Amino acid sequence: MLKVCKFGGSSVAGSEQFKKVKAIIESDEARRIVIVSAAGKRDSSDHKLTDLLYLCDAHLTYGVSCNDILAEIRDRLTGIAADLHLSYDVGADFDAFAARLTKGFPVDELVSRGEYFTARLMAVFLGYTFVDASECILFTYDGVLDKEKTYSALAEAVEKYGRVLIPGFYGSLPSGKIRVMSRGGSDITGAVAAAAAHADVYENWTDVSGILMADPRIVKDPKPIPKITYNELHELAYAGASVLHEDSVQPCMEAGIPLNIRNTNAPDDAGTLIVDSVEEEESENDRFITGITGRRNFDILTVTKRNMDTCNTLSRALAILSQYHVPIEHITLGLDSFALVASSAALGDTLYDIIADIRKNCRADNIEIKDNIALVASVGRKMSSHPGISGRLFKALGDNNINIRTIAQGADELAIVVGVENSQFETAIRVLYDGFAG
Ligand code: ASP
Repeated sequence: MLKVCKFGGSSVAGSEQFKKVKAIIESDEARRIVIVSAAGKRDSSDHKLTDLLYLCDAHLTYGVSCNDILAEIRDRLTGIAADLHLSYDVGADFDAFAARLTKGFPVDELVSRGEYFTARLMAVFLGYTFVDASECILFTYDGVLDKEKTYSALAEAVEKYGRVLIPGFYGSLPSGKIRVMSRGGSDITGAVAAAAAHADVYENWTDVSGILMADPRIVKDPKPIPKITYNELHELAYAGASVLHEDSVQPCMEAGIPLNIRNTNAPDDAGTLIVDSVEEEESENDRFITGITGRRNFDILTVTKRNMDTCNTLSRALAILSQYHVPIEHITLGLDSFALVASSAALGDTLYDIIADIRKNCRADNIEIKDNIALVASVGRKMSSHPGISGRLFKALGDNNINIRTIAQGADELAIVVGVENSQFETAIRVLYDGFAG
C-alpha cells in the first residue's frame, strides 16, 4: 500500500501544525510520499509565505527595499526550526538566497522558495529525503508538464529513497530554470506524484473535513460529502464550488487513483473520497443530491424568430459569440426562439455589438436581454435513476416564491441548473439544501 500525502499551507503554517503532520505520517506506514505547500496563515491576520514572496518581487521591481519582508519570512522559518529543535540551519540557507536577490531576479524562482524552505524543514522533521521539485517536476519549454520525464524522474526518486518529501507548486524547464504553476499548484504536484508512483490513494490534507454539500457562508453547517465521483466534482467545480486546483484532478482520474480530502486538524474524520464510480448499493445514504452550488451575474439573451431554421440560426448566433470570445453556459431551445446564457463579465462592453450582429446575421425578429441572473446547480449522480427529483426541486423553489428564469439539465443528467434572480441566489441554495440534504 502506498499513499501520497499533500499538505496545504494551513497544515504547515507553524510548528504546531508540523507536529500534527508528523503524527499523521507516522500513524500510517503507507504514507511514504509527502508534498507540502509553503507555510500559510496561522491566523486571519497572518500572511502566506508565497504572498510575502510575491510582495518581495514587487518591491524589487520598483526598487523599494524588501528587507523587512525578508526578515519576516526568515523569522517564520527559523522559528519553526527552533521550536522543533531541527538540526537544519535554515537561517543560513535563507541568508544565502536573500543575498542573491536583486532587481530582475527570476520571479518564479523567488516565489518558489516558500515551498522549498518549508519542504526542507519538513523533510528533516519527518526524517524523509528531500527531493527538489526542480529535479522531478519537469516542464517542456512551453511550460506544459513533460509527463513522461516527470513520471520517470519521480518513480526513480521514490525507488531510490523510499520516503520522500517534495516541495509543491514548482518544477523546472529544460534549461533548469525554475517555473511555478498557477496559485494552489501544490495540489497538482501531489496528483502527479500519485499517478507517477501508482499510489493506492492520493490524500490531500487541508483544514476542512472534506467537500461540503454547500457553501458554509450561505448554508449553516452544511454536511460534508462522504463520496463523490470525479464527474460530479467536475460539475460542482464548474458551477462554482472551489475545492481543489482544477488541474489536480486529471492525473488521478486518468490513473484511476482515488483522491481523499482530509483535515489535518481532525485526522480521524474520513473526509471526502473522490472516486471513478460508486456502486449504488454501497452508497451510504438516500440523498439524491451530492452538492449544491452556483454563481451570480449571468445574462440571458433570448432570440426570437418566427419559423426559424433552428440549426442555421443557432449556429450563426454561436459563431458570433465565439468571435467575441464569450463562452456559453447554457442553451435552451423553443419553437420560434432560443435563449443563450453567458456570464455578464464575459459579455462586458461587447454586449451591444453582439446583439447588433445577431440581429443582422440571424435576421432575428426580436432579442431580449435579462441580466442579474444567478445559476444554481444541483449535482448528483443518483438523480438520473430516480424519477421525480426535478419536480421536487422546482416545487421547493416555487413554494418559496423563487422564480425560475431558465432551466438546464446536462445531457449526462448529473446536474440540474436553474437560473434565478441574483437577489434570490442565496435563498435558492438554502431552500434546495434544506429540501435535499437530509
Ligand atoms: N503556495 C502556493 C500558493 O499559495 C501554492 C500552493 O499553496 O499550492 O498558491
